[in-house]
Amino acid sequence: MSTQSSAPSDAEVAERVESLLAKMTIVEKAGQLTQFFYFNLPPSEEIEDRLNTDFSRQPAMVEAALSEGKAGALLFVTDPAEVNRLQRLAVDGNRHGIPALFGFDVIHGLRTILPVPIAMAASWDPAVIEQGQAVAAREARAVGIHWTFAPMADIARDPRWGRIIEGAGEDPYLGAAVAAAQVRGFQGADFGAPDRIIAGPKHFAGYGAALGGRDYDEVNLSDAELWNVYLPPFKAAVDAGAGNIMTAYMPLNGIPATGNEWLFRDVLRGQWGFDGFVVSDAQAVHNLKTHGFAENLTDAGVRAVTTGIDLEMAIGDPAYAHLPEAVDAGLVDEAALDACVRRILATKIRLGLLDQPYVDEDHARAVLADPAHRAVARTAAQRAAVLLRNEGDLLPLTGQGSIAVIGPLADSRRDTIGPWVFDYDSAETVTVLQGIRDRAGTDVQVSYAAGIRSAQRTFASMFDMWGDNTPADAGDFDDTAELDRAVAAARNADVAVVVLGEWQNMIGEAASRSSLELPGDQLALLQAVAATGTPVVLLVMNGRPLDLRWAAENIPAILDIWYPGTQGGTAVADLLFGDVSPGGKLPFTWPRTVGQLPMIYSHTTSHEPDNQGKRYWDEQSTPLFPFGHGLSYGRFDYSEPTLDRDSITAGETVTVSVTVTNTGTREADEVAQLYIRQRYGTAARPIRELKGFQRITLAPGASQTLTFPLGPDELRYWNAAAKDWVIDSTSIDVFVGGDCTATQNVSFTITG
Ligand code: BGC
Repeated sequence: MSTQSSAPSDAEVAERVESLLAKMTIVEKAGQLTQFFYFNLPPSEEIEDRLNTDFSRQPAMVEAALSEGKAGALLFVTDPAEVNRLQRLAVDGNRHGIPALFGFDVIHGLRTILPVPIAMAASWDPAVIEQGQAVAAREARAVGIHWTFAPMADIARDPRWGRIIEGAGEDPYLGAAVAAAQVRGFQGADFGAPDRIIAGPKHFAGYGAALGGRDYDEVNLSDAELWNVYLPPFKAAVDAGAGNIMTAYMPLNGIPATGNEWLFRDVLRGQWGFDGFVVSDAQAVHNLKTHGFAENLTDAGVRAVTTGIDLEMAIGDPAYAHLPEAVDAGLVDEAALDACVRRILATKIRLGLLDQPYVDEDHARAVLADPAHRAVARTAAQRAAVLLRNEGDLLPLTGQGSIAVIGPLADSRRDTIGPWVFDYDSAETVTVLQGIRDRAGTDVQVSYAAGIRSAQRTFASMFDMWGDNTPADAGDFDDTAELDRAVAAARNADVAVVVLGEWQNMIGEAASRSSLELPGDQLALLQAVAATGTPVVLLVMNGRPLDLRWAAENIPAILDIWYPGTQGGTAVADLLFGDVSPGGKLPFTWPRTVGQLPMIYSHTTSHEPDNQGKRYWDEQSTPLFPFGHGLSYGRFDYSEPTLDRDSITAGETVTVSVTVTNTGTREADEVAQLYIRQRYGTAARPIRELKGFQRITLAPGASQTLTFPLGPDELRYWNAAAKDWVIDSTSIDVFVGGDCTATQNVSFTITG
């Protein structure tokens, strides 16, 4: 899909940068370092109060800044005609004709919406992840967006945190693979290619470890956790060539991330050699003041620019507008600004923006309508689904003459695509109900009942400003009659497909929860439907684990479909009817209750894994579903793993082989997972650590032998005492299987 671009050489870029920089005034430089939100939205007073912003002033204020050369970048514009209009203001607004960069949150698609990021991670399929983000990039670039604030590379180990949905879950190895695949998808191999966008991994760093899972709360992490768990996905994204990094809002170990010189100067640029540009999170430079770190806005700007934050993302009143006076007052060297300006200009030149700042609106329309994009979204949703339970092989459905589809989420387009979508075309979205109807054809009778009214958040979400988020049943609703309708529909059907979960605005940014219960009356609905005796398939629409304790004991088939995107309903029907087999695996540990949180599979402990049962006296210590869990329509058998050698020295690689056989009767996918455990050494290490995985498709009776290398990258870890990466002389157990509880194992030693 990539189009060849004639990228300028580093020397050409540098020459152009220096010639522009030499002519720029200090005010023009500060302008290049400023990015504005451009909101042209109907303001809601409640939201304005909460964000302390008067949105009605926004368009005029930003247009004035563009016209005066005081804005180098914008965000939140997705209409190509608007992009061109605003770009003209930018180009004409400075003496050098430097265009603006347009950024946007293209998190899981622009017009064609893919499954949410946690779902894509659940595919354990870097190829499909890369392909999906290439589609997102193509659509975004066509409308004039140059760069996305994605992937979210934050590890999330507490599902109360709503942003768990935006990442790859709890594990650094999976997180690194997923982050790198997304960067490759967005950017392609050819930086600046006309159908790609710059990737901006975020939020550097540690944001996912917010105290209590409360979004934006402080983060305190040991060095060992930072290096071994939270930083690897960022390192992988940087190694994959990411052109941008976004800061995190909160203080990390007491130092606000956006002013954290250690993070940005020592680690990111120093140790990792990152040469792209850094953007602050929205208002995060301002927040240096709120954190009680910077004395005033000028000080905030000075601290951020000194940290090497090249671009300030601002809603209004940027701190960087105070940089010229700070230079005059001797508070910061102009050289600090120059370093940032160089990186912004270099990015614009590499993108080809200086030569072609405008977009072709006809081309944009054609790209957005490309049916190939919908096909990618459908495959992605198929591969993301995780079959949590399938007692008696209730799935796939075969031979049922009637299906009752139940639950308001089954018929909600807005919820099917999930949060972090703004520019969607809701008419294109296929709901679960629609997908089942289309696939069932005329032979199978499909009935539908919501059963209950849509649950609401207890306060409105700031994201409800975009699109129509009013539930269809917001008006009159007869609860008793509707529940009766659902029960009757189930009773009269051969199978009931119940769709439950969280409404999309209950999860995402600023959407932490203190409970994991199914919101509203959903559990009661499920119980009432199950009481009819009709077999029930539960489809879960979610971005975090929910309390499914009752369902896990009483409902035979549970399929996690996440927020499956534009083609969600079609893909779900493909899975239900067995056209394809589910093959996704959980990217997080699924707890039983909120009281167990945080709960991870890779904990370090003085107990054996099977001796964990006594840690709470009122609840089991095992999860409801372990990390890596996921069933399929096949059955997989693993051979004993073998090694090409049983001893290595530090720095060498051992190769593990295992044969996987599909002993079932249907073609299906399996994600073979390899875990290690270090038995002893100079630190206590986790009881299991993921160090390899491969998703394979096997016909019934077919076998495949897989090999996994275990070398320095897999065996080293950051040691708190040594304050460095080490490979211990030790003995390593290797486990291979279909989830983190795998027992097939073999061992080798590392000497000297
Ligand atoms: C979020 C970022 C996002 C930015 C722009 C912030 O509130 O934390 O992840 O990219 O807004 O929408």
